[in-house]
Amino acid sequence: MTEFLELRDIRKEFGSFTALKGVSLAVHPGELVCFLGPSGCGKTTLLRIIAGLEVQTSGTVIQAGKDISRLPPMKRDYGIVFQSYALFPNLSIAENVAYGLVNRGMARAQRDARVNELLALVGLPDSGAKFPAQLSGGQQQRIAIARAIATSPGLLLLDEPLSALDARVRVRLRGEIRSLQQRLGITTILVTHDQEEALSMADRIVVMNQGVIDQIGSPTEVYRNPQTPFVADFVGKTNLLPATRAGDKRVMIGAQRFEIENDAPAGNGSGLRVFFRPEDVIVRGVGGATPNSAAAVVEKVEFLGSYSRLTFRMNGIDQPLFADLSVNDMEEFHVKPGDTMRVAIPADRVRVFEAQPA
Ligand code: ATP
Repeated sequence: MTEFLELRDIRKEFGSFTALKGVSLAVHPGELVCFLGPSGCGKTTLLRIIAGLEVQTSGTVIQAGKDISRLPPMKRDYGIVFQSYALFPNLSIAENVAYGLVNRGMARAQRDARVNELLALVGLPDSGAKFPAQLSGGQQQRIAIARAIATSPGLLLLDEPLSALDARVRVRLRGEIRSLQQRLGITTILVTHDQEEALSMADRIVVMNQGVIDQIGSPTEVYRNPQTPFVADFVGKTNLLPATRAGDKRVMIGAQRFEIENDAPAGNGSGLRVFFRPEDVIVRGVGGATPNSAAAVVEKVEFLGSYSRLTFRMNGIDQPLFADLSVNDMEEFHVKPGDTMRVAIPADRVRVFEAQPA
């Protein structure tokens, strides 16, 4: 596949601080890639380098086969949407959307037709005569997207476009942006620190941590098969517990031995961390013979609608263990704080990380 965008060994230094430590990445045509990571990991800096708003210290940016590493922003082929709506407050909605078209010298009639088409596309067909202040935050972001794609750029850059919106609007807009992006087939990069947003919208997620890429993969790959403890911890609710090796494909978690299917290469002996999701834990009554399980005491029960999250304490381990239980299981076991239950961890669901590689 010909890549639409390629970043080769991008480094960015701000004085003595290195914000990006040699980042390489290829984006396929038409896909939506999320840069996901905590505040300060370098995702906005990387997006701004793609846009030409920041100049990399070294490294190459290739777009549509062309080296654009030193091209000024105006000469690059992208539309961008920022977190704050950044519409021109003194221009009407139609004038805002038409902004890039005017700059390109498009004839009036053609421009008006294009603006109407774009307003319909973002679901605000009758808003052209209004001013930004008359629209809600979510509506303003839809207009900002219409403005960004007005000139049919090759690349759409979205810098935390939903984070200033309230939760309901944010969730609705996620779906709208994704379906618009798929209908247009426009290659898109979305910067977010919100893992739910990345999981629900992306074709691929680029998980960033302190200026490097920890993992690139589909939402399912990143969620099910994290390559580093950081990814395991940052994406989704996680059990990441200290453990020690107890023979071939066996680990001790607290005082209890568990079988595992996939071991990690041996490290320097400083111990392991085992990873598994709360929804993979099987909770059963204490009486039955449950393989690969340990007794644990229920510390907390949180009702979360379609499931409940239980917090357990296990013998010999300080950290809590989280388990998600379906409504039906909750009804069957009548779980309440103080109960002792058996928590089973299926061997094929556990991933092992060396605390310190050899
Ligand atoms: P956030 O979500 O908080 O914006 P981010 O992952 O997008 O986080 P960046 O904005 O890319 O992070 O910043 C990466 C690091 O580089 C941060 O530590 C930041 O303080 C630093 N940084 C960014 N811009 C500059 C600058 N102009 N001068 C100095 N340091 C900077």
